[in-house]
Amino acid sequence: MHPDTGELLSRCPWLELDSTGTKYVCEIYHDRPEDCRHYPTHIAEMILDECEMLESEDIGDRVKGQKKLDIIMSDSRPAFRSN
Ligand code: SF4
Repeated sequence: MHPDTGELLSRCPWLELDSTGTKYVCEIYHDRPEDCRHYPTHIAEMILDECEMLESEDIGDRVKGQKKLDIIMSDSRPAFRSN
C-alpha cells in the first residue's frame, strides 16, 4: 500500500531503477523499515519465498545455512533463535 495515497501497489514504492536503468535499488536503504532490516530472518522463510539468494547446500543443511545467513545479516539484525 502506498504510504501517502493508500493505493494498493504491486511492488514497494521505494524500489527504483538506478541511474543506469539496469537494476533496482532501495531508495531508502539506510532508513529502511525494521521488517526490511530483518528479512530474510531464517532459511525456511527463504525457501517459502523462493529467494534467489538461497543456495542448494543451504536447503540440505539448514542449520549451517542459518549460521551463514546470520553472519551475512549481522550488520542488519540479531541472529535468529529457534526454540
Ligand atoms: S528493502 Fe524494504 S523499503 Fe527497500 S525496496 Fe525492499 S521492501 Fe522496499
